[in-house]
Amino acid sequence: MAFETQNPATGEIIARFDNMSDAQVEAALTASMAAHNTLKTWLLGKRRAAMHRIADILDDEAERLGAIITLEMGKTLQSAIAEVKKCALGCRYYADNAAVMMADEPVQATAARTFKRYLPLGPIMVVMPWNYPLWQVYRFVGPALMAGNTGLLKHASNVPQCALSVEDVVRRAGFPDGALQNIFVTTDQVGEMLRDDRVKAATLTGSERAGASVASICGAEIKPTVLELGGSDAFIVMPSADIDKAVSTAVTARTQNCGQSCIAGKRFILHGDIYDEFKAKLKAAFEGLKVGDPNDPSTDIGPLVTERARQEIIGQVEAALKDGAARVTGAEPIDGPGFFYRPGILENVPKTSKAYYEEIFGPVAILFKVDSIEAAIELANDSPFGLGSSIFTQDLSEQDLAINGIEAGATFVNSMTASHPALPFGGVKRSGYGRELAVEGLRAFCNVKTVSIS
Ligand code: NAP
Repeated sequence: MAFETQNPATGEIIARFDNMSDAQVEAALTASMAAHNTLKTWLLGKRRAAMHRIADILDDEAERLGAIITLEMGKTLQSAIAEVKKCALGCRYYADNAAVMMADEPVQATAARTFKRYLPLGPIMVVMPWNYPLWQVYRFVGPALMAGNTGLLKHASNVPQCALSVEDVVRRAGFPDGALQNIFVTTDQVGEMLRDDRVKAATLTGSERAGASVASICGAEIKPTVLELGGSDAFIVMPSADIDKAVSTAVTARTQNCGQSCIAGKRFILHGDIYDEFKAKLKAAFEGLKVGDPNDPSTDIGPLVTERARQEIIGQVEAALKDGAARVTGAEPIDGPGFFYRPGILENVPKTSKAYYEEIFGPVAILFKVDSIEAAIELANDSPFGLGSSIFTQDLSEQDLAINGIEAGATFVNSMTASHPALPFGGVKRSGYGRELAVEGLRAFCNVKTVSIS
């Protein structure tokens, strides 16, 4: 695909970027290897100082970088600035904690001295999506560079200026040239790079189709992968919950980032005793949301990312309605320039409908009614995905049943699923495998070397 900036709020094409030639790809691979060879000789204190400089630049330039995010993918400027600041937080977390995460770990075995040592792998292929165009990348940059790895960033083709900004910030912070390089390449070139001996592993966040493609090449090449794929997270509400809090959290969970979040609550599984109250309050809240110019501070929701994304959601909703679902409110495109879409709610989606199982990557909530915690968990698990999940209940036994019973990489009790640098992030089932963030994210691309000294 062509790398270009198109403003989703207007549809205007702002800039186009040329794909790299094979010779440029070769140079990038060489530079990535050279940067790794330099970085692995740096003491952790030196890496820490450079990572702190990344965080400082991000904080200092949050408004400028936030404006690029908003221009390229349409989220509100306020949320874009918050994303940049979260990137700074993530970089500081790894700057300050990597030394402990990378420290030798003594183990009692048979030799006089045995321990585990964490060593970097080398250049990593980093394939990223547009929905959190900086956070997705910095959550790789923080742990990877602190461990001594380097990154070749193949970002989504609609966020090229975000991609270039990361390379620029990492270089200005003082990391070796080539430590994080943006590469404008085709899918075929990605495949060739994955087969190159210098690339040691890959991480991909995106669709199942892209994940399966990258992982199959890496499988054939015997290279490790981390896959962060889609989700259709359950958001369970039981009668003992604080309903107003559950409703306001549901609104944020389903509509933030214009509903384009992998860990958004997407399936709202409500106990029959509170179904009508929750539905009425959610409907009123959805109808009160202001959709419009993402640069206007009073806007709650900007446009969807592309016309193609909007058409996909229109198609999913139409199919669900045809299959017997009912529209509670909204869930329709807004006329005029830009890719705007009114947030909406569906109910009575039958099990025979594709919408029951698919991820809807936009601001459409689907409501389900159940009569027990067991039925809620069973419905939560009746999905190919297993990324995040939430349950609202004051009942400790229901909390415990959900924590143990829901097949997902995370269960948040009385709050929405959210990422944090200190918490492992990832999924099970078709949501992928491996973990980002926390110590797991750093060690995902380390050689855990066993050392035994007799
Ligand atoms: P996508 O089409 O898979 O794109 C993601 C990245 O993969 C882009 O850089 C894309 O490049 C690239 N790509 C596409 N096909 C490829 C292939 N065959 N080989 C190599 N690279 C390929 O994903 P999307 O639909 O834009 O993003 C939304 C999806 O990402 C949703 O399913 C969402 O849930 C998921 N997501 C998951 C997480 C998580 O942490 N689990 C976080 C955010 C998003 P082009 O742009 O050039 O096509």
